[in-house]
Amino acid sequence: MDDAAIESRLAAAEAAFPAWSGREINERAVLLRRVAAGLRSAKRDLALTMTAEMGKLHREAIVEVEKSADACEYYAQHAAGYLADQPIATEASLSYVRYAPLGCVFAIMPWNFPVWQVFRFLAPGLMAGNVALLKHATNVPSCADAIAEVLAAAGIPEGVFGVLHIDNDQAADVIADPRVKAVTLTGSERAGRSVAGTAGKHLKKCVLELGGSDPFVVLDDAELDATVKIAVRSRFGNAGQTCIAAKRFIVTPGIADRFVQAFADAASKLIVGDPNDDASTLAPMARADLRDELHRQVQDSVAKGARVLLGGQPGQGETQYPATILDGVQPGMPAWDEELFGPVASVLRVADEAEAIRVANATRFGLGASVWTTDTARGERVARQIDAGACFVNSLVKSDVRLPFGGTKASGFGRELAEHGMHEFTNIQTIYVQ
Ligand code: NDP
Repeated sequence: MDDAAIESRLAAAEAAFPAWSGREINERAVLLRRVAAGLRSAKRDLALTMTAEMGKLHREAIVEVEKSADACEYYAQHAAGYLADQPIATEASLSYVRYAPLGCVFAIMPWNFPVWQVFRFLAPGLMAGNVALLKHATNVPSCADAIAEVLAAAGIPEGVFGVLHIDNDQAADVIADPRVKAVTLTGSERAGRSVAGTAGKHLKKCVLELGGSDPFVVLDDAELDATVKIAVRSRFGNAGQTCIAAKRFIVTPGIADRFVQAFADAASKLIVGDPNDDASTLAPMARADLRDELHRQVQDSVAKGARVLLGGQPGQGETQYPATILDGVQPGMPAWDEELFGPVASVLRVADEAEAIRVANATRFGLGASVWTTDTARGERVARQIDAGACFVNSLVKSDVRLPFGGTKASGFGRELAEHGMHEFTNIQTIYVQ
């Protein structure tokens, strides 16, 4: 897009805000429900677009569209409660908090969940009365346009949501524009540092959801079959290109060998193939450069002493990579120090529960974590010692519209989803009447 096209989107967003934020919340809810219905009826076409652009398995794409529709319906139902004035008793005759919309929120979104990531910010944002501009990842432009079409067809007024097909320098100018009030980014740590720097320079609020290197802590008393099943799903779903995928499998001695063997057996059954073919169970990666980078991380880890238990060599074409498991992963290897954003699992063997907790926390990231044990009280105790935005016991780490989602450390800051995510992009305003 050239400067004139960007200017027209910014002007349209600015013009749309007063009427959109001034509508009754119930009217916005009616429109959000229509968006949900539009997503459901367009889900097959949307899924085909996602698969064509970034290689997602068709069935995973369908689930993603349905989850996005669910989020619209959830916020349509709950926004009024989340945004209701909160009375607070003081010596004043009346004092309370209100949640006022900010204006235009600029979203920079990634390709790995090209529909869900957008609705994760958009559904609460629109219900809060904000308007939005989206810069989607360069490799999923048609997903962005398809989302805009669904919104327009549902009757979302012009200017309330706009797509910007722009590069990263142009995105910096958009952040700087006074009509943009806040920024939300999901993406890499590198992008996070850059976007937060620009937002900081212009004093714009930002929420960052960056990478992760989630620990999956398997304690001696874990139930093997259930644990392995979720281990495979968590690491290899979406071709491993998920911020909250389990990435580091931390295992204690009483179960380590049995777990690793069963995990490798189950992962070896995954079939990389055409993502539109129902027989495929492991998607190709989204881009050739991402596969090349993943393979470099694997090779570098192996050169430093990691053992390949499964996979480890690129598959056919430019983007296939097989399910891969590295054992004996140690500090100083990319498989320990960096995020592996693809179908590669790292096994980290530890002596006991205390070391498992230390190793779980020995990462720059802090997005999600899971703990596996038949003693749920023990699991909860361990979970509370892990420095991450979310810690699940005996469950797949997943984003759930009812629960806040976000990270600590290099995984970013701020929260999405639930009530907390909705309040991020509001003016939490104190009203005090003496
Ligand atoms: P990026 O972080 O580069 O891309 C994510 C989004 O950020 C895209 O829209 C991208 O735009 C944009 N972006 C990147 N740099 C800037 C910038 N300086 N200013 C404004 N916008 C920017 O991810 P990649 O596609 O390069 O993937 C690389 C790695 O990022 C992965 O291996 C993974 O570690 C991490 N990642 C994490 C995700 C998560 O869910 N947390 C999602 C995707 C990636 P454009 O495409 O135009 O460059």
